[in-house]
Amino acid sequence: MTKNGIVYKKNSTQVYLDPKSVVSNGVNFISHAHSDHLPSKNGGKILSSMETNEIAYVRGFKMENFVDKMDNFSLIDSGHILGAKGLLFEDVFYTGDICTRDRAFLKAAVIPKCKTLITECTFGSPEFVFPKIDEIKSKVNEIISGLYSKGIPVILLGYQLGKSQTISSLFGHWKPLYYHDSVKKMNDLHRKLGVNLEEVLGHSEAEANGLLAKKPWVMIAPMMTQKNQFIKHMKEKYGAITIGFSGWAKSLRFAFGRRSDYSIPLSDHCDFNELVELVQKTEAEKVYTIHGFVDEFASHLNKLGFDAQPLREQSLDDYV
Ligand SMILES: [Zn+2]
Ligand SMILES: [Zn+2]
Repeated sequence: MTKNGIVYKKNSTQVYLDPKSVVSNGVNFISHAHSDHLPSKNGGKILSSMETNEIAYVRGFKMENFVDKMDNFSLIDSGHILGAKGLLFEDVFYTGDICTRDRAFLKAAVIPKCKTLITECTFGSPEFVFPKIDEIKSKVNEIISGLYSKGIPVILLGYQLGKSQTISSLFGHWKPLYYHDSVKKMNDLHRKLGVNLEEVLGHSEAEANGLLAKKPWVMIAPMMTQKNQFIKHMKEKYGAITIGFSGWAKSLRFAFGRRSDYSIPLSDHCDFNELVELVQKTEAEKVYTIHGFVDEFASHLNKLGFDAQPLREQSLDDYV
């Protein structure tokens, strides 16, 4: 682990996993297009999926020297967002961000066997166990249906890239349906990349045409707090109620998961049990934990008999 992310070095091979700056003397793997994984500078060959390349471009990062295939490297579906991949090379598997649950158009991650596993553990603490997707669907449909019967519009909130598309797919059958302009942009791109999502108006156009005054309706918008001007406006003018979707929703320790009127624990990451299962399935001899509860999760894995440790920032010469 270096200031430029994780670097794997062996003989003449140098692999940079989600580096902040792309470097010229090795392979730069970009797992997916969330901003904490996208580099800010070009400078060498980038290995990534075609979808990640397209989404990154729309988000303002143009990948130069991009390839989606390379000998001795396998890109493995990580089920996190559209185009998200893990990387398998030389018995090493790097998960990127990973989810082993089917969610709407996103299929569960594929888990390869490996000797060394570098896994994210965003929710690597036992308090995070997420409900089944069917339970979430019926609960949310019930809430919307209750509000609809009183003529109350509903805003579904989730990260602009990833969660918003999942909830557009899961709850897009509610009509009339609108997207926040920023979600519309991302949904349009997903449709272009072959994901079946409803084509509906963005909020500016809907409002300009007086459509939001005809209640109730459902809108899908990026995650925002109740203090946000947009949410304030939607509440004051139309009496909208918000439902937030986040893996943090259930946590007693992290209140930011409950900033909406209703909070639903839907995540694009593995929960605690899924992470443990993932590690077991890889049959890895050595596990490095990154992102999130790195110490807690590594020590839990140690108790299960795995050789696991958090991956921390070190000098360029002494990493994996
Ligand atoms: Zn991510
Ligand atoms: Zn991430």
